[in-house]
Amino acid sequence: MITQILPVNEASLEAARVIIARGGVVGMPTETVYGLGANAFDTVAVESIFKIKGRPNDNPLIVHVHKDYDITTLVKDIPDYAKALAKAYLPGPLTMVYKSLGTVSKAVSCGLDTLAIRIPSHEGAQRFLKYVNLPIAAPSANISKHVSPTSAEHVYRDLNGKIELILDGGKCAGGIESTVLDCTGHIPIILRSGLITREMIAMVVGDCGEYVYKDGEKALSPGLKYKHYSPTCKTKLFSSGDFNKAVAYCKNQITLGVKCAVMCDGAASEKIVGIPVLNLGATADEIAANLYLKLREGEDCYDEIVAIEPVMQDGVMVGVMNRLKKACAEVK
Ligand code: AMP
Ligand code: MG
Repeated sequence: MITQILPVNEASLEAARVIIARGGVVGMPTETVYGLGANAFDTVAVESIFKIKGRPNDNPLIVHVHKDYDITTLVKDIPDYAKALAKAYLPGPLTMVYKSLGTVSKAVSCGLDTLAIRIPSHEGAQRFLKYVNLPIAAPSANISKHVSPTSAEHVYRDLNGKIELILDGGKCAGGIESTVLDCTGHIPIILRSGLITREMIAMVVGDCGEYVYKDGEKALSPGLKYKHYSPTCKTKLFSSGDFNKAVAYCKNQITLGVKCAVMCDGAASEKIVGIPVLNLGATADEIAANLYLKLREGEDCYDEIVAIEPVMQDGVMVGVMNRLKKACAEVK
């Protein structure tokens, strides 16, 4: 199969519509990461997403819709706090989990009685969703466990020959996956942190909970139990306080003949001389936007990435740290 990368325009949207209508999948841009989308009503199409990615079949998918789509045809019991959050932050990088009406294929939620809905703000994503006017089930468009894609080129590198079309909407501005928020209880609970932070949610609805997955238990959000975001090269993570140790380790590895680079924030990178650096950027937003890009650059160019945790760890950095820790987890 030949994989085409096309800019979002009338011709490519029509090509995408035809592929989706016959049960195929399309690579699509969003403001967080690129998605691999299929018609959420079509079980065979949804199942093919799992096959193409090698995704575990108990890790449910998020359904993407355009901003005028009537989500009450898909889910029920939308609480007032969810309406307030939707008004404040949608379209945007916030996925909300509701009780499902069971109108989309059961394969989307892997048997759960809930459904995760997202309304992306990316203009290309909105155009595509409006053009097909269907709920599109879409996980990130990478091979399962690998680093998520933040450009059409990243999608191509993972899925070349496995999908027909990637809609190219440029580099993703956000860079890490959406915040996933459980909206089935009396207060919202963050299942996965992201660019819509706990503080931003609390500002609108008072407070919210945060779910912490513990190894071995039945996960509220099944995706949490899997290894994720991992580059193909070796990784080693140091805390920001261990800056000197990390640099010494990297230098030693280089002496031993290992192609090695330090990955760190802008402030730390300024203190490093004589060894390669993967600079994540200065602000939390920059670091989020560059994380996957730099992990991919690292695996392309080096045998090992020596990551140093950024000093900042609140707000958006909660989500970044979650991804960085998983990317550098010992067990892959
Ligand atoms: P990905 O598509 O790879 O960005 O992952 C989607 C995330 O949303 C995973 O962590 C899933 O477990 C989570 N998710 C999707 N649907 C649901 C749902 N119905 N209930 C809870 N979590 C969900
Ligand atoms: Mg993913």
